[in-house]
Amino acid sequence: MASKVNAKAASVLNKDDLIVIGGAGGFIAGSLARYFHEQGFTRIRAIDKKPLPDWYQVVPGVESLCLDLSDPMNCRKACEGAVEVYNLAADMGGMGFIERFRIECLRSILINTHMIEEAYRAGAQRYFFSSSACAYNTDLQKDPNVRALAESDAYPAMAERGYGWEKLVSEMFCQEYWSERGMKTAIARFHNVYGPYGTWDGGREKAPAALCRKVIEAKDSGKLEIDIWGDGHQTRSFMYIDDCLTGIDMIMHCDDLIATPINLGSDFLISISDLVSLAEKIGGVTLKRTHDLTAPIGVAGRNSDNTFIQEVLGWAPSLPLEEGMKRTYAWIEKQYNDRKAGKRTVS
Ligand code: NAD
Repeated sequence: MASKVNAKAASVLNKDDLIVIGGAGGFIAGSLARYFHEQGFTRIRAIDKKPLPDWYQVVPGVESLCLDLSDPMNCRKACEGAVEVYNLAADMGGMGFIERFRIECLRSILINTHMIEEAYRAGAQRYFFSSSACAYNTDLQKDPNVRALAESDAYPAMAERGYGWEKLVSEMFCQEYWSERGMKTAIARFHNVYGPYGTWDGGREKAPAALCRKVIEAKDSGKLEIDIWGDGHQTRSFMYIDDCLTGIDMIMHCDDLIATPINLGSDFLISISDLVSLAEKIGGVTLKRTHDLTAPIGVAGRNSDNTFIQEVLGWAPSLPLEEGMKRTYAWIEKQYNDRKAGKRTVS
């Protein structure tokens, strides 16, 4: 399977090569299964521990299996015959989840150690791991006017407790499976991803979805108020799901990036207060703001330095935040209304 810079699955794989995707009952991996299916791949195996009725997307024609990937035997079943393995399964969520449930986050190490070993045993040609910007040194993220994080900023290591350290160690597994055993691995450090089919309620949702939902709820209830976690000065960048999928495909198939962690995120930095204003603008409403200063907010600021991805791939995520937020708001509004009408919804 030859590969060159800017290669994608469509140019390097046969349409009937088996693509295995872990965590496909969730947001990004479910969208990835749909992405490959739409490109005409005929053998996609999607796996998640959630029962099928709880998956955010079940793509017709995709083999969809309910397996707990923290169990090595399930990983063996999952990886059997795989040409490529994309492992995005993890117990995770927004700040509200990863600051409260560090043990759950750390336990994702079981998924990552067993999946990579079974991908190797199955002879998979490439293995993708979804790392996170939470792997970066937190000492560099104490100011909302943060310097964007470049790949080298993960070391010396001082990752986010729990979730970030697990990602950093799993990255190391990917690097060693390449250097000791010659399996081609790809490691993308995602910065916040948002869009339709993401978690929007229930405690695991992230800021863009949570704020859209709060605006929709406020309009619906007539109680024109919004509760914001923290003082609103904290900053982040947000990447739309379609950019994330393109990036995964390009990073996975670029031989110059084997076993090399790379940022996959937007470099448009915005404060949470300004994100609230954007959600209000889309909803056509202005709300009275209150701030919960005891809520988990994570680091003060975090942005993606996209110099390296531009250099290697000549590409970086680019969908403007306002456009992505409009699409996300519209999708959440429909979910909200469907739920109110007693219909089945995502999350
Ligand atoms: P998600 O929670 O929507 O999806 C993850 C899925 O993994 C869930 O459906 C969950 O049921 C499944 N899972 C958990 N434990 C499992 C197990 N033992 N066996 C099988 N399935 C299991 O999350 P997402 O936003 O789609 O994130 C996907 C990946 O991207 C994760 O690895 C996450 O850490 C990483 N990531 C996401 C973001 C983001 O902003 N969404 C940012 C950085 C990194």
